[in-house]
Amino acid sequence: MKTILVVGGAGYIGSQMVKQLLATGNYHVVTLDNLSHGYRDAIIGGDFVLGDLADRTGLDHLLADYQFDGIIHFASFIEVGESMQQPGKYYQNNVAGTLNLLDAIISHGAPPIIFSSTAAIFGEPQYTPIDEQHPTQPINPYGKTKWMIEHILADYGRAHQLKFTCLRYFNAAGADPEGQLGERHQPETHLIPLVLQAASGRRSHLTIFGQDYDTPDGTGIRDYIHVYDLCQAHLLALEQLWQGADSTAYNLGNGTGFSVKQVIETANLVTGNTIPIVMGTRRKGDPARLVADSTHAKLKLNWQPQYADLTTIITHAWQWEQQLIR
Ligand code: UDP
Repeated sequence: MKTILVVGGAGYIGSQMVKQLLATGNYHVVTLDNLSHGYRDAIIGGDFVLGDLADRTGLDHLLADYQFDGIIHFASFIEVGESMQQPGKYYQNNVAGTLNLLDAIISHGAPPIIFSSTAAIFGEPQYTPIDEQHPTQPINPYGKTKWMIEHILADYGRAHQLKFTCLRYFNAAGADPEGQLGERHQPETHLIPLVLQAASGRRSHLTIFGQDYDTPDGTGIRDYIHVYDLCQAHLLALEQLWQGADSTAYNLGNGTGFSVKQVIETANLVTGNTIPIVMGTRRKGDPARLVADSTHAKLKLNWQPQYADLTTIITHAWQWEQQLIR
């Protein structure tokens, strides 16, 4: 039985990862989380260690207590707008925290690490779909922290024989297909949960951020990828590193873009409600279109998304929203 450390395992994607690792029956799972944004009740099994990446001594104790075969690192602050207002908070937590983690890892046998990266490292797209060769020019501190960590990993890889895979998520969405877990961000800034909160009555309306983009209906286009499928990619990436693959990066999306209006129309059908909308202005820093080319992940990881259909993604998120309001 291999032992995996999930850093940030109490969060939206991390908790789903813990669930999927446990479901295989092949892994002993340890979650490290400071519960600043995650939820203790989202960790459905394995061991839990309350701790912070700022605490290097605590990390050393944790890595000495367990012999980890692999690390999956989700812990980071993720709000673009907040990162523009408080960049130091992002560089401290995301970059300095990851440096502590990496230093602890390399002094305890350097098990391979899967790192949660983001499409935000690419900045304003120069072409779509975005493949791994696309230039990386992040336009906000959040994206810059992830870009920096990718470079730090490359340097640690060369210097310390650390194996790593960077997974650049496009728009993580949906919820546990079994209805047990889902998104609970405070504050919520993501489109699909906000749309569904407007459908359930938890919010009065959804504001569309801009309808003057250069897209067919004028609203922003994104590539929504199911949280379950993202987690499967982590597992495949880890297995690939254990089998001796080189460190690399993969872009993870479905390769199909949906506009804000298309998301709302699909949510209207799924929920049977007409979601109240208000037309607003563009949100600063939002590109018109972000769509992934995930050919590399499909070929090299043999990654096959199970829930690529937008209706399914929204159906699972709606199941979760209904559970929250119960
Ligand atoms: N969006 C919107 N209203 C909202 C939240 C988001 O119109 O209340 C739009 C946003 O401008 C973008 C898309 O929905 O085009 C997805 O935004 P989200 O914040 O979910 O993800 P991002 O792509 O910013 O990471």
